[in-house]
Amino acid sequence: MKISGEMIIGLDCIKGEGKEIKSINPLTNLDVEPGYASAKKNDVNLACSLAWSAFKEYRKTKPEERAKFINTIAENIERLGDVLIDRAILETGLPKARLEGERARTCNQLRLFASIVLEGRHLDLRHDEALPDRAPLPRSDLRYQKIALGPVAVFGASNFPLAFSVAGGDTASALAAGASVVVKAHSAHLGTSELVALAIQNAAKTCRMPSGVFSLLYGSGNDIGAALVNDSRIKAVGFTGSRAGGTALMSIAQKRKEPIPVYAEMSSINPVYLLPKALEYKAIDIAKQFVIAQSMGAGQFCTSPGLIIAINGDGLDAFISECKTLIESSGSQTMLTKGIYNAFKSGVSTLKESGAISTIAQGQNSGGENQCAPILFEASAADFIRLPELSNEVFGAATLVLRCKDFDELLQVTEYLEGQLTGAIHMIDGDEDHARQLIDELELKVGRLLFNGFGTGVEVCDSMVHGGPYPATSDSRTTSVGSTAIDRFLRPLCYQDIPKQILPE
Ligand code: NAP
Repeated sequence: MKISGEMIIGLDCIKGEGKEIKSINPLTNLDVEPGYASAKKNDVNLACSLAWSAFKEYRKTKPEERAKFINTIAENIERLGDVLIDRAILETGLPKARLEGERARTCNQLRLFASIVLEGRHLDLRHDEALPDRAPLPRSDLRYQKIALGPVAVFGASNFPLAFSVAGGDTASALAAGASVVVKAHSAHLGTSELVALAIQNAAKTCRMPSGVFSLLYGSGNDIGAALVNDSRIKAVGFTGSRAGGTALMSIAQKRKEPIPVYAEMSSINPVYLLPKALEYKAIDIAKQFVIAQSMGAGQFCTSPGLIIAINGDGLDAFISECKTLIESSGSQTMLTKGIYNAFKSGVSTLKESGAISTIAQGQNSGGENQCAPILFEASAADFIRLPELSNEVFGAATLVLRCKDFDELLQVTEYLEGQLTGAIHMIDGDEDHARQLIDELELKVGRLLFNGFGTGVEVCDSMVHGGPYPATSDSRTTSVGSTAIDRFLRPLCYQDIPKQILPE
């Protein structure tokens, strides 16, 4: 399949007339052809108008039809083969094996949502039968089911060009819910976005889905994204990216005549607690695991460990000393975009300029473009609470170790933390009392609480929660990964005394 730089609007491919943008190879900082003309407001209007009319038809599709469409998308993505992987490598600098794994995850995710549609689990059907003889008042027949909210706008993530982009978790769960989808492509991987969008468009054609069930628009700067969220026919938004981007879209959505939900996954530093007994007996092992988790994907994961919290003592010293040895002998990796690299540099500078942190260790920088070498800092718990800038997410392989003078101070830090996607506790026998007290606090801060591990690697399954209180996400009642992600794009509807002959199928 060939890319052309055209937008995918319903069943048509349309050349945009706005400003041309190009992806940039982060390994070389050179443009990647072809150019992609940004959408204009009339393209947003067309995509949303088609999405609205398609929605009315698509939400009524039979489970087998909808599941077939979603499964066909997965097949088409697989059929793209190396064309897709090679383009994604060019646009993101990510290694082949990582992208192949991500493609498998993307397709499995689509198939999971197709299976949910077939089972009808998402409908959450409930029935309270009529009680005509109930005194003092009879009860009506009441039936409950969930229906799709309406067309969904999706903003692809830079750090998962497949699994959280055009056909990623947001799109898969929205399509499964019965919503049509308009994606604003991430400007960092335009060709990858087009290829995946063509796979979806072809599936829509093969499965005879209404035109407008899916569209893809390009647009750098904020105008096109803002126009999309402002369009009255869009009824919900899925977003993964920066806190600034997510909160900007939340604000637009709230100011609309009809405010709509924005499910934004934004910023998290994912605290990791090392409890005293675990540090006494396992400091070196934990350090080894941590250094691997920290540098994975150059730390460009929303669940990357950005904060380590422990009580001052020999165990913590041993942990830090092992980390220092391992990090100083480690190399650097290319970041996804120049913008992300610049944000990493500026985040590190802000930490250093606070005057409250010391650098424990830094990896070797290869000197190539957009390189991130892992870096480990240390600060006191008191300074962390005093200086809000120490809590900011530094997207990349940067981690701050907090030395607490005692367990009470460790709990104080926890109470001070903002909402997080994950919290990890390293413990062994003998740490239970501390762990129980910590869990009571951490449950209020995180979406996923994990033990003796690190949050990187998010399983797509029924029990997964990839969410958490603000600013981890804009709505802590939901998850953007796992089967219940579909609930974001559904709402409950009750039928009272509906005649049997017109009951929805
Ligand atoms: P981003 O700048 O928030 O962009 C994400 C998407 O939203 C892009 O498509 C972008 O458009 C669009 N967008 C951003 N602000 C907007 C606004 N005000 N109005 C309309 N559309 C807007 O995120 P990014 O480019 O992926 O990465 C930048 C930073 O985000 C990173 O350095 C990191 O700090 C953070 N990040 C966090 C996570 C996480 O999971 N926690 C993941 C990725 C990134 P364009 O295509 O025109 O840029």
